[in-house]
Amino acid sequence: MFGRAPKKSDNTKYYEVLGVSKSASQDELKKAYRKSAIKNHPDKGGDPEKFKELGQAYEVLSDPEKREIYDQYGEDALKEGMGGGGGGPFHNPFDIFEQFFSTSGFGGGSSSRRRQQQGEDVIHTMKVSLEDLYNGTTKKVSISRNILCPRCKGTGSKSGASSRCHSCQGSGIKITTRQIGLGMIQQMQHSCPECKGSGEVISQKDKCPQCKASKVSLEKKVLEVNVEKGMKNGQKIVFEGQADEAPDTVTGDIVFVLQQKEHSRFTRKLDDLYVEHKLSLTEALCGFQFVLTHLDGRQLLIKSDPGEIIKPDQYKAINDEGMPHHQRSFLKGRLYVHFNVEFPTSLPLEQSRALEKILPSKPGKQVSGMELDECEETTLHDVNIEEEMRRKQQRRYHEAHDEDDDDEDDAGPRVQCAQQ
Ligand SMILES: [Zn+2]
Ligand SMILES: [Zn+2]
Repeated sequence: MFGRAPKKSDNTKYYEVLGVSKSASQDELKKAYRKSAIKNHPDKGGDPEKFKELGQAYEVLSDPEKREIYDQYGEDALKEGMGGGGGGPFHNPFDIFEQFFSTSGFGGGSSSRRRQQQGEDVIHTMKVSLEDLYNGTTKKVSISRNILCPRCKGTGSKSGASSRCHSCQGSGIKITTRQIGLGMIQQMQHSCPECKGSGEVISQKDKCPQCKASKVSLEKKVLEVNVEKGMKNGQKIVFEGQADEAPDTVTGDIVFVLQQKEHSRFTRKLDDLYVEHKLSLTEALCGFQFVLTHLDGRQLLIKSDPGEIIKPDQYKAINDEGMPHHQRSFLKGRLYVHFNVEFPTSLPLEQSRALEKILPSKPGKQVSGMELDECEETTLHDVNIEEEMRRKQQRRYHEAHDEDDDDEDDAGPRVQCAQQ
């Protein structure tokens, strides 16, 4: 794993910095770091250089993998990024300090750079109609994606061989340092530009002619997305491992997220469907029937019972005509009909009189002539209550807004409010 090791460099300094033996346990390391780091923290007048050294020493020795590299090859190996995955550069000593005191199990975490990465998932939105969700459907989607080059099987070379990148010694990482303050150096890790972070280079002659050593090629294919009966808005349909392939990468998924288009007639809530229906006053009082075309094209006859009266805003339900339940599509929700009754705005006087004779008599006693003399007459005005409420709310907002912040207010609408 650590071929081409650099020459052995100092591998005792970190132990000395922390004041522990080379066989110190993790607990001993923690105790030593805690004590010295608090004592040497620059905020408490400690030496920044010493504080930094403590951070570096602890960062390396608390990580078994880095500690092993350090023990075997010394400090230079770590600085050159061997063992990668954050093995090379050191973190800001203040970050190490903070992390140490904010988490109990500090350390660990980093692992070999050669381990497989997790590829990204590709997310698509798939618009579906309510009919699609009611009946189920299959949609074909053509995609293009990267696959490992079939010719070189993703090695990028004819021979399958590659050699270690000289620029980064195969680590794929380059380290730069910059001064960020008095005695403070930040080391940053970049992907090696020579090998694009792969740690290896392929000679010109050996490059795969098909993928030109890019290791991947483009594939076009058609996915059949099976939208099942009763699926819901926002539900995901996953094609595992169908996203872009890349070397040393676990291929991510292609995910289709269903997005239900609004329907002109029906709305859905869970497994239930809702439909609005307008009745005339005569229909509401004397009975109605109408035909509703369902999402599968069936014609439903919907009618009132004899003598039944439908009130404005009333709901009625039809069992088993809602949405099919996903994966148990023989179970269906209810279809709710929400009735809206349209009243005539006025009636000719003789019709009104005729109705009065037919309809149940008016409730309570009539107001007597004597009482009428003592009453004040009033006028009922037409109002649009929603409009009025909105205007009142707007005014309240502006008043509150004025108290908070005079700069931002816009005189226009407020004047309008005040006038009305
Ligand atoms: Zn190839
Ligand atoms: Zn490189």
